[in-house]
This record gives sequence, C-alpha cells and structure tokens, in this order.
Amino acid sequence: MKIGLLKIGKVEDSILSYLKENLTNIFPDVKCETLPETMPIPKSAYNPVRGQYNSSIVLANMKRFADKKAVYNRILGITNADLYVPHLNFVFGEAEFPGKYAIISLFRLRPEFYGERPNRKLFLERALKEAVHELGHTFGLKHCRNSSCVMFFSNSIIDTDRKSSSFCENCIKKLRIEKFE
Ligand code: ZN
Ligand code: ZN
Repeated sequence: MKIGLLKIGKVEDSILSYLKENLTNIFPDVKCETLPETMPIPKSAYNPVRGQYNSSIVLANMKRFADKKAVYNRILGITNADLYVPHLNFVFGEAEFPGKYAIISLFRLRPEFYGERPNRKLFLERALKEAVHELGHTFGLKHCRNSSCVMFFSNSIIDTDRKSSSFCENCIKKLRIEKFE
C-alpha cells in the first residue's frame, strides 16, 4: 500500500515529512512518498464571494493531475488554501468515500488562525488527525460517534483537539475488513 502526498500550492516540506513519518505508524504496511510535482491551486475552484476554494473542485482537479500516478493506492492533497463545500462554512478536508483521493486544508489548523500563539507541535498534530481522518474515508470508514476516535466529525477545531490521531477499536476492525484495497 502506497500513499502519495501531493502539495497543492505552496506547502512547507517539513509538514509533509511529519505526515509521512506518522502516517506509516498509524496505517499498517503503508509506504508514504511525496510526489515531486506541486499542483497549482485551480483558479476555477475559487469563490470570490466567499474568499474560499471549493474543495470538491480541487479534488476533481487532483484526479486529473495525479491520474497517471498508478503506483499510488491513495493520494492525499495538502493545501494552505481555505476549503469549503456549498452547504458548510468551511471544511478541514474532503475525501472520496471510498476511493483514492483525499485533501486536507492547513488553513484553519494553525493556532494563529484563532488568535492564539503559534504552536508548531499542536499544528502538526492537527494536520495528522485531519490526514488520518480523510484517508479513513477513502478506506470506507464513516464518521464515528466516539469523540476520541480520529473518525469523529470535526465541526470545529475543538473537536479536532479532543480526538486522537488513531482509530478506535471499532474503526480499526472495519479498516482491517477493508484490507487497505
Ligand atoms: Zn469526515
Ligand atoms: Zn471510531
């Protein structure tokens, strides 16, 4: 099982290194690589009224951009752009359910966004949780009612901070049934 990490727009390499290292600890038998190319943020996804990017459009563009990368079982896009879907104010990420492609936004994960002091460790932990969550969806996992499970739906950053970066026992079981296919 190979997961490719795709930068969408400018993203710090240290974030990708952190995700790579930790995703391999959480998902068994997974190899993680950063794709050498960076995908530009698609202009067509920008909504000038909202000042945000439509995550479904970005996801569709990712598929076109990375389609030839058959060596990867999953592709996780990482962006600093603020993402939304039409019926929500924002999303931390979106994924095919189940499928191959997922995306996370770092925009609302930095403590500075909430007027708090920068905290690199907290920021990276949040990014990891969102990455595991969206990848979980690609493996067919739904939202979990356990608020400490990574598959719990984050309505706000408080939910993200409350949950862990790992799957609860129930979700682990379902993940095993999926056999990472
Ligand atoms: Zn979700
Ligand atoms: Zn769970």
